[in-house]
Amino acid sequence: MEPSYDEEEIAAVTAYLRSGGWITEFKKTTELEEAIAEYVGSKHCIMLPNGTLSLWVALVALGIGKGDEVIVPDFTMVASANAIVLSGATPVFVDIAEDDLALDLSKTEATITPKTKAILLVSMNGRCARVHEFQKLANARNIHLIEDAAQSLGSFVGGTHLGTFGIIGSFSFSVPKIITMGQGGALVTDDDTLATKIRFFKDFGRPSGGSDDYQALGFNLKYTDLQAVFGIEQMKKLPSRVTRKKEMYARYHAVLSKIPQVTLIETSEETAPWFVDIFVSDPDKLAAFLKGRGIGTRRVYPALHTRSFLKAFGEFPVSTEMTRKGLWLPSALTLTDSDIDRVCKAITDFFQT
Ligand SMILES: *Cc1c(COP(=O)(O)O)cnc(C)c1O
Repeated sequence: MEPSYDEEEIAAVTAYLRSGGWITEFKKTTELEEAIAEYVGSKHCIMLPNGTLSLWVALVALGIGKGDEVIVPDFTMVASANAIVLSGATPVFVDIAEDDLALDLSKTEATITPKTKAILLVSMNGRCARVHEFQKLANARNIHLIEDAAQSLGSFVGGTHLGTFGIIGSFSFSVPKIITMGQGGALVTDDDTLATKIRFFKDFGRPSGGSDDYQALGFNLKYTDLQAVFGIEQMKKLPSRVTRKKEMYARYHAVLSKIPQVTLIETSEETAPWFVDIFVSDPDKLAAFLKGRGIGTRRVYPALHTRSFLKAFGEFPVSTEMTRKGLWLPSALTLTDSDIDRVCKAITDFFQT
C-alpha cells in the first residue's frame, strides 16, 4: 500500500497557502465534509483528526462509557476495540463469519446482555453481507448500531453506502486507505442532535470558534483546512479509484480463484476491496517465497483475543483460523496490470513447485 496524489493536490495546497488561509479548521473542512456526506448519502459529516478518535467520539456522543458493554469483532484493526476501551466501556469480542469476515450474526445475538449498549460493526475490506440483519437486530434489541466503515469508503450494500446503516458511521483517511490526507477521520449520521453534540465536543464545547462560551464538556479534536484542501482533491478521485480497486481485485481473482490452495472471500460488485486478501495454509512460507521475487506482502491483523491487554473471553474458531491463514497482497493504486500479473504468476509458481 502506498499513498498516491499528483499535480491537483500540489496545486490546491499551494493555492490555499498563497491565499493566506489560517491552516486550521474552517471553510475548506466544511467543503470536504459536504463532499463526503454527499458521496455516502448522509445528512451530516464531521471531520476528526483520525479514525480512532472518531470511533471514540461516536461512543461518547451516544453516552456510552463505564459499566457499558460494546460488541466488537475479534478480527479487526485494533483501533475498533481500543476506542471502546478509551470510552471506559468494555469491549466484548465476538467471532466473525467465514463468508465476509464481519461479525457473526447469531453469535452476536447470543452475546447481547442488559449491559450491551452498542454493536460496533466493522465492514472489513468493504464487505458486510448481513448489514441489514444487524440493523434489524440492533433495532429489535434497542441498542445502537455503530459502523466502523474505515475500510469501506466506496463500498455499498443494496445501493446504500456502508457506514450509513447505523445511527453513526466512522471512516478513516490514514495513509493506506483508498483516499488519504495523511491522517483523518469522519463521522457520518442523519441524526441532527448527535451531529450538534459532536460539533460541540470537538471544539471545547463551544457553539463556534472565536468566543469562549463553553456549554458542554469538550476537547480539541478539530481538523485542519490544510489537510481538507488535500482531501477535497482526493474525494474528486474517489470514483475512479473505486473503479480501479474493483478492476485490480477482478484481475487477481481471475488467476487466483483457479488455484485450489487459495481461498478468496466472496466479493460483491458493490464492494471496492481495499486490500487484496487471500487465505492459504502457510502464509509465512508464501510470503517468504514472494519476498524472494521482490514482492511485498503483509500478514492480516492478529485475532484480538490473543492480545492480553484486551482481556477477551470465549471461543473464536473462525477468526483464529482466518487470521492464521490470511495474507494481504500488493494492493496500492500505483500498481499496474503487469505488476498484478507478476504477483499472480509468482503465486501460481509457488503452488506448482
Ligand atoms: C484504519 C482503521 C481504523 C483506524 O483509523 P486511523 O485513522 O488509523 O486511526 C479503525 N478501524 C479500522 C477497521 C481501520 O481499518
